[in-house]
Parts: sequence; C-alpha cells; structure tokens
Amino acid sequence: MAVGHREATRSVLDGHEHAGTLTQIETDRIEMDANTVLGLGLGVTPPWRLVGQRLDTGKQPHELHLEIAADRGSQFPCPVCGKPCKAHDFAEFTWRHLNFFQHHCYITAKVPRTDCAEDGVLRITVPWAREGSRFTLLFEHAALMLVREMPVLAAARIIEITDQRLWRIVAHYVGKAIERLDLSKLAAVGLDETAAKRGQNYVTVFIDIDRRDKPVVFVTPGSGKETVAKFKAFLIEHGGSPGRIVEVVCDMSGAFIAAVGENFETAAVTVDWFHVVQLFTKVVDEVRRAEAKRSKLPKALRWAILKRADGRLTEAQVTALAELEASDLFTAVAWRIKEKLRWVRHAQSIQAARWRITNFLRHASELLDPDPILDPVRRALATFETHSKRILQRWTSSHSNARLEGLNGLFQAARARARGYRNVTTFATIIYLIAAPLGSLFEST
Ligand SMILES: [Zn+2]
Repeated sequence: MAVGHREATRSVLDGHEHAGTLTQIETDRIEMDANTVLGLGLGVTPPWRLVGQRLDTGKQPHELHLEIAADRGSQFPCPVCGKPCKAHDFAEFTWRHLNFFQHHCYITAKVPRTDCAEDGVLRITVPWAREGSRFTLLFEHAALMLVREMPVLAAARIIEITDQRLWRIVAHYVGKAIERLDLSKLAAVGLDETAAKRGQNYVTVFIDIDRRDKPVVFVTPGSGKETVAKFKAFLIEHGGSPGRIVEVVCDMSGAFIAAVGENFETAAVTVDWFHVVQLFTKVVDEVRRAEAKRSKLPKALRWAILKRADGRLTEAQVTALAELEASDLFTAVAWRIKEKLRWVRHAQSIQAARWRITNFLRHASELLDPDPILDPVRRALATFETHSKRILQRWTSSHSNARLEGLNGLFQAARARARGYRNVTTFATIIYLIAAPLGSLFEST
C-alpha cells in the first residue's frame, strides 16, 4: 500500500516538476484558480532542484516530504546587494506546501548564508517562500484565494492550518497591499463608523466616494475625532494631499464634523441622506419601545419600523403599519414625521429642497405632542435643523451620496467573514480584504 502510494506520487511529481516557476506567478497578474496553482507544481527554480521525496504513512493525514537542494558549488545572491556569493554555511528549514491530494506536503531544504565582502554573512531568502514564513508562496497564495471567498475559520479548516497562522498570512499580505495604496488622486471622502460586535470594537472606515467598486481606502480602530487626524496622516503617507479633498461625506456626529473642519479646511462637509433616515428610524423605535410599556401596540410593529422602508414587508408587518397609521399612538406621530422625509428627499433642486426642509420642520412641530415620550423626536429634529445646510449640500454635490448606504452591506459582510474573531484588527483586515482596491495581493512579497 505504502509503496503504491509512493510510486503514484513520483510519477505525478515528475510530470509537474517544471510546469511553472515563481517568476511566472509573480509576473502574471491574472487571478488564478486553485487548479492553476496546483498545476504550477512546486515553483522551484535553479539552482534549486527537487532531490528527494518520501511519503510518511505513519502520520494521519499522511505527509509527503520533498527535499530540495541547490546544485553543488552554486552561488547565491547576497540578500542586500544581490552580488553572487559562495555559501558560508547551511541550516535546514521546512515549509508547509500545498496539500498533495489528501496528504499534507512539506518542503525541506538546507538554506545557505552568503558571505559577502560588503555585507557580511546573511541568510538568503529562498524563491519559494517569503522571509520568516513557514509556508511556501503557493500555499499562501491558495490560502488567500480562499479567504477572499469565505470566512477565515472555514478557509483554515479547508487548508488544514490553525486559524491563528492563517490570520498571520492574511495580515501580512493585506498590510503589504495597503502600503502600496496610491491616494494621490483622492478628492472626495466618505466616512462612517461601525462596531465589530454589537456596541463594541468600533472601527472608522474611509471610502473614496468616486470609486464604485472596492471603495475603502482606510480603516482605523476607534470612532470619532482622532480617526480623522489619523486618516489625514495616512493620506499624506500615500501620496495624497489634504488640500485636494473637496468634499467629505459623513453623519451628523459633532465630533466628526469638527474634526473634518480642523483637518480638511477646504473640504465641504455633506451629511448623507442615509444617516438622516437612520437617525429618524432610531427615534421612531425609541418612541415605540417607551410606548409599548404603557399601551398595546400592533403586533409585528418593531420589524416593520426597522426594516428599510422600501424593503419587502411581511403581511403581518404591512398590517401593523396600516394599524399604526390609523392610530393616535405617539409612535404613529414619530412614524409620520419620519415618513415625511421621503417628500423632502424627492426635491428636484436645492431651492425646492430648502423650501421642503422648512416645511418639514414646521409640519413636524405641529404634529408633535408636548408629552415627553416624544422628546427623542424633538432632539432628532433639532439635530436635523442644525445640520440642514450640510444636508442640503447633497443637492449641489457632484459626488454620489448613495455610497455610505452601500457601506452598511459591506459592514455586515465583514462581520460574517470575521465571525469568531471580531477584534478591531481582524475586523479591519477583513474590511480591507473585501472592499479595498488592493489589486493582486501577490504583487510583491
Ligand atoms: Zn552584499
């Protein structure tokens, strides 16, 4: 049985040994599927050669061990200056490689230190793995392809490594790709904060408003003022200029708005409509919760209110809303005010919008009962009025204002992908991975 395995192994390997090289992988910017990666074989280039192979059937799963060695008397480039040098000495290293069918596969090689007249004795980096990694480049590439498509935990199970190790690989390549981000043309920014877990582990996400696809350019732990200063520093490090930023789109948080004013003096601040609706939706729900303690409310009302008003409602939710609209509940008052926002939103010009906002505020104050249960609505209206100029900005802005709304879906996807690891670092990494213009993560290692 063991012999049969070994022979099968050898014949397949012989056929594939020279099927591809690392140079090809690095220059081909084409996204490769897992089969192509496997087809590229070991990715070992001269002077390195596959010199031995052994299938260890004593372990479960079985382990295929491949031994790689350099031709005798080979010279190796000095890691600093690149000059060919003789080997000073060797030390043995092992890397996990792509599974060979169901077997785990390891590559072992004696890696030299070069003795350079200029730079001294230094360990070289082998062509099949990056410095410091215990995995081959092909293994890491396959791992990253999986992580781009599925939760990290699921990917770790498929390639059979620990999740911590997989996170380290992902963090390395995402970090390198972020270093390469070019923000020299960035002119309009949107920002929003979100929590990795309910109510904790906040991150603030900055997007390029002009990018439809993969708009995320910066993710940082925390929320509020200091995140804007951090973004400014990041922007400058990546070739951008604060003076080029003409517009910043955000919510109505005083901290964000003040920080944008301090860090991006020439930018106009636009409050996006999504956050206006979000504020009033929250308020309707607050009133509903308070009122539920005193009166009987229609069933299914909670989700009917919270669901995006344009989303599909269940029959029970439709009935609940109809009952609400016909009622004299406080929740109904809050709801009517929120629904009136649609009318404001559909204004065709900034003049019309300004007129509708004035009307909306007057109409709302007429509807409002003095009962303190409606205080949250009063506060929301005050916030709305304070920011009305920035809200109006959306009617003159040349940038799309729907982008921040799209971020919500991204945040949900990132939370699902980072399931089980929702600290700020892993959450930020996943947001970058699925929504930043990182290009090929393998561009350079
Ligand atoms: Zn050197």
